[in-house]
Amino acid sequence: MTRSHDPNGPATIPTARRRPKADVLELGGRKLKPATLMMGHGFDPALSEGALKPPIFLTSTFVFESAAAGKRFFEHITGKREGPAEGLVYSRFNGPDQEILEDRLSLWEEVEDALTFSSGMSAIATTLLALVQPGDVIIHSSPLYAATETLIGRILGRFGVQWVDFPAGASRQEIDAAFERAKALGRIGCVYLESPANPTNQLVDIAAVADARDAFHPDPASRPPVIIDNTFLGPLWQKPLKHGADLVVYSLTKYAGGHSDLVAGGVLGSRAMLAPVRSMRNTIGTITDPHTAWMLLRSLETLELRMTRAGESAAKVCTWLKDHPGVERIGYLGFLDPESRQADIYRRHCTGAGSTFSLYLKGGEAEAFRFLDSLKIVKLAVSLGGTETLASHPAAMTHLSVPDERKRQLDISDNLVRISIGVEDADDLIADFDQALAAV
Ligand SMILES: *Cc1c(COP(=O)(O)O)cnc(C)c1O
Repeated sequence: MTRSHDPNGPATIPTARRRPKADVLELGGRKLKPATLMMGHGFDPALSEGALKPPIFLTSTFVFESAAAGKRFFEHITGKREGPAEGLVYSRFNGPDQEILEDRLSLWEEVEDALTFSSGMSAIATTLLALVQPGDVIIHSSPLYAATETLIGRILGRFGVQWVDFPAGASRQEIDAAFERAKALGRIGCVYLESPANPTNQLVDIAAVADARDAFHPDPASRPPVIIDNTFLGPLWQKPLKHGADLVVYSLTKYAGGHSDLVAGGVLGSRAMLAPVRSMRNTIGTITDPHTAWMLLRSLETLELRMTRAGESAAKVCTWLKDHPGVERIGYLGFLDPESRQADIYRRHCTGAGSTFSLYLKGGEAEAFRFLDSLKIVKLAVSLGGTETLASHPAAMTHLSVPDERKRQLDISDNLVRISIGVEDADDLIADFDQALAAV
């Protein structure tokens, strides 16, 4: 939390400037929307020479007004004193830019607290290191982002952590079966989800997972947390905390950063749930740096604009691609069979189909490569959620190391192209796809 919320102000700021202006969070009984609050929330210009925008605070350490104040701040850092820290101590723990960013991110998810990290993977690694013990079992949905699978299977595995998985589209019965298998192996450390899954776009029934967790752990005090990677649809189109998840993790590199010019991560949840994660971050130093935090503040001002435009353009592009003779089928959340379980999950959990989808071309690798090599506006690169449209070939790139049998199970075929739509003019994108398909 930013100290500007504290009516007494930070003890490290000269007395004359100790009372920052309170944030306006509602007007006439109406709660203000995050899109409005992104321009000012958590920052008082009076604390920074009247600067409209927060400066980038490049400092490794912070000066205490008195020894007693320093002691009090450390009591917060070490957990000896309850509540949000009253003052800043050292930049491995926190800084003004990161705190403002964390406050603003919390608004999007309508949640108490947020922590930001040097990458999506450092957010995930710090969270799992904080919550999982040797001998624990992690239950996870499949597939996961490749580096997350490596982290759980190969790295935490070295410390005696085991895992059990269920497919992303699983029914309650299949989820229960995963809990049964996990229980037989040891204590369940956490339940880790990713929805929609990359690259299949399969949605996980978060509510069913949370219900299963509660049924297997009737005592709320000993419930393993449900953690979900919400990178593909969050924070605009899916709010997992409302469906029973406890912690949401993000690669802020994608839609939140949104310009393909930074790498960062985030974890959001209740203050109590985040406390051990914060403590782990303080210890190992996986916090985002002030410059990246500042760039993310700028990105969040246009988050809704960018995501809305990308979502609308993706709908137009997919509608055009769907009927093209060169296209076999398309994996886009806007085109789910209304009778399917996936459509049921979509209706309950999602408010938009996103802008990242799978395109299955007629043919194989040669046709997919010709298509990719013929694109003139769309860039050939992995990643997603940026202002520019990107296309890649999962089987030959992000999922190259996945064994063939597993690729077949996951529908990662040689004719699959992954596309993330940006904010360009939709008709220009369609013209590019049109000429690239003609070249195939
Ligand atoms: C990119 C990504 C990550 C990893 O994030 P980095 O910022 O690259 O560390 C994790 N999960 C998903 C779903 C991603 O797309």
